[in-house]
Amino acid sequence: MLSALPGPATRDGNPAEISIVVPVYNEEAGLAAFWARLAPVLASLACRAEVVFIDDGSSDGTLAQLLSLRHLDPRVRIVSLSRNFGKEIALSAGLDHADGDAVVPIDADLQHPPEVIPELVARWRDGSDIVIALRRDRATDSLLRRAASSLFHRVFARMTTVPVVRDAGDFRLMSRPVVEALRRLPERTRFMKGLYAWVGFRQTTVSYDIEPRLEGRSKWSLWRLWRLALDGITSFSSLPLKVWSVVGLAFALAALAYGGYLVARTIVRGIDVPGYASLMVMILFLGGLQLLSLGVIGEYLGRVYDEVKARPLYIVRQRIGFDRDDQSPG
Ligand code: UDP
Ligand code: MG
Repeated sequence: MLSALPGPATRDGNPAEISIVVPVYNEEAGLAAFWARLAPVLASLACRAEVVFIDDGSSDGTLAQLLSLRHLDPRVRIVSLSRNFGKEIALSAGLDHADGDAVVPIDADLQHPPEVIPELVARWRDGSDIVIALRRDRATDSLLRRAASSLFHRVFARMTTVPVVRDAGDFRLMSRPVVEALRRLPERTRFMKGLYAWVGFRQTTVSYDIEPRLEGRSKWSLWRLWRLALDGITSFSSLPLKVWSVVGLAFALAALAYGGYLVARTIVRGIDVPGYASLMVMILFLGGLQLLSLGVIGEYLGRVYDEVKARPLYIVRQRIGFDRDDQSPG
């Protein structure tokens, strides 16, 4: 341990240096274990720290657990959202409420070992704006998930210009300027990996071994991962939208050539009727292609609609441990 325990951070003139941001959704069973690992790390940091928990509309006893943690340690702050908004938005809420010079988002399920945090902080003090904690291997993920992830990253790299770091998740340290840059991105579709890469800044990486989830199970179903992949691509590339003009042009040219051939053949050989099979194949194929392209437009249009409505990203039900509207709902 380096020095005496720092006192609780207060918003008036004595902001925290390090903010740990933890989105939690129905983590009642694992929170105590998480805190047991995080607390010694906080103590070893030897700087003013705060821990901002975002209760993402949990339906179990998570909030009560958080309140008892706050009772133990006043550096714990709680933002309770009005419903489940999803991890990415919960994280954004956390960034909005954290006021440290450096902010470290971390999962509550201990898949991100808190023991890595001092290393992140050390690299930050050495002058990096972003220190990414890279998972060393993905042994805890299923084969299918790993394959899907690898495919996604290859497609994503092809279609966009943002340099997304593979295997880099939300576990990282970001300096204040990075956090402010992220907070200025107003989009509702929050594909964090892409947003992190988009803002840029100097970054370094630190490796850690990911651990299996401690309690409960991951909330990411394959369907959710698919939605996430679509969010990522539609947020950073309009290629799927534009490719149809090229596909259409190619088909039109081919149709023109084939049409010319048919006319010439009719003139030379007279009329003959067969060709039902080829006709059906073409109609079905083109019909499918048209529906697909409409679907792609729909994916974009839906997201444009979401943005145009300009609803707030999240609704806070209660803030606990903040000067502004303490305890008051809304
Ligand atoms: N989480 C959240 N809202 C959600 C889903 C998850 O705040 O809708 C939190 C969850 O409590 C955990 C972190 O996000 O602290 C990571 O969740 P999970 O382990 O389910 O995701 P994975 O590790 O599979 O990416
Ligand atoms: Mg997890």
